[in-house]
Amino acid sequence: MVEHYDVAVIGAGPSGAAAALHSVRRGFETVLIDSAEFPRDKTCGDGLTPRGLHQLNQLGVEVNSSYRNKGLKLHGFGTSATAPWPSTYPCVEGTALQRHRLDALLVDASVAAGAHLLTGEPATDPRLEGNRLVEFRVGEKKIRAKEVIVADGVRSTFGQKLGRIWHKGEVFGIAARSYCESPFSEEPWMHSHVELRDEEGVVQPGYGWIFPIGDGSVNLGCGALSTNKRPAKVNTKKLLSQYASQQRAEWQLGDEKFITSAALPMGGAVSNVAGANWMIIGDAAACVNPLNGEGIDYGLETAALATEILGTNKDLTLVWPDLLRQHYGEAFMLARTLARVLTYPQFLPLAGPIGLRGPMHVAARLMGNLITEEDRDFTARLWRTAGTAVSTARAGSPLWDSTF
Ligand SMILES: Cc1cc2nc3c(=O)[nH]c(=O)nc-3n(C[C@H](O)[C@H](O)[C@H](O)COP(=O)(O)OP(=O)(O)OC[C@H]3O[C@@H](n4cnc5c(N)ncnc54)[C@H](O)[C@@H]3O)c2cc1C
Repeated sequence: MVEHYDVAVIGAGPSGAAAALHSVRRGFETVLIDSAEFPRDKTCGDGLTPRGLHQLNQLGVEVNSSYRNKGLKLHGFGTSATAPWPSTYPCVEGTALQRHRLDALLVDASVAAGAHLLTGEPATDPRLEGNRLVEFRVGEKKIRAKEVIVADGVRSTFGQKLGRIWHKGEVFGIAARSYCESPFSEEPWMHSHVELRDEEGVVQPGYGWIFPIGDGSVNLGCGALSTNKRPAKVNTKKLLSQYASQQRAEWQLGDEKFITSAALPMGGAVSNVAGANWMIIGDAAACVNPLNGEGIDYGLETAALATEILGTNKDLTLVWPDLLRQHYGEAFMLARTLARVLTYPQFLPLAGPIGLRGPMHVAARLMGNLITEEDRDFTARLWRTAGTAVSTARAGSPLWDSTF
């Protein structure tokens, strides 16, 4: 049985479902494929920055929860700081929504717009002619599509078969999340604890978070930064439980439930993200901010970007990574370099206290992924200048390069 489409999207997380939605709206016969049945859970902090919420607004997808937050509260090294979301960004509020709800919302929206949905079986067996993807399978079905968007998440099992390589010499995240009941579930701030200590009291290169989600519970988790050379010697699930016990009294937390963990590629540290007629987006393309582990916003944005070049009959092999580098290259390279410095155990205890006493509007913009290309103010210019300098110094480091 062979099915023909203009566009096939593999993976129906936020990146893939948003890509399918954009694609049908642009008039392409589109199929959206996921190995899971929806609604399904996904290991995540559930935090949606104004940047993510802005993308959802652009898509016309309304978050079906009234909970909204005003910014970040950062804690650690004997101090706390409040960083409201900047008033200059097109969307001035953030939220947090459990992923089984957010992802189902997006899948439903793409189906309502006209996407065909195939769930419950993975996409497998890509057949390539050169680096053109001519066919693949979903169970018994053979799928042929003129263009394919691959949004199959951190492991990118399908992407790997197309040649995608994750460079673990560059910084990557390891993180765990849980849900705890709390009477402070409506608290309108996302909380991050940047002084995260393990059992021996050693500061870890990462942070703990408590993101209220407005449904009687909070998403509580922690993440650490790692590289192959300096692996974070930490069991994230244990660290999470320790962090929960430190915060239990203040937040009146119930037990940690549904604990899951995952590793995530960051800052564009992958190669071979496109072939003649296929593009990799979202987590699979390491579109995650190395400074905060957030990727839903980038997933939604890369979905929009990729669908803009569908149907142009261009060979996408170099076009897609070039576009990614234009939009995110310098910022990701800078964030990746800063994050790498954080994996040196001496650094955080020295820099953390200074950072927390620095200008909080800058922290909110960095931690909330809220410096965009359009911004022309001092912070944005400084960020971009540093990005250009670091990118020049680190030319040759993997950044969506192609070996095809
Ligand atoms: C602990 C943790 C906390 C995080 N917290 C946040 C946060 O608070 N805010 C934030 O913005 N980001 C956060 N992130 C990152 C965020 O989860 C990801 O950036 C986001 O899920 C990326 O979406 P995606 O659509 O690219 O991938 P995913 O959401 O992983 O979706 C990939 C989909 O592909 C499907 N799939 C995989 N292989 C196949 C196949 N062969 N065939 C068909 N389907 C396939 C999977 O079933 C899945 O549904 C966190 C990550 C972790 C690990």
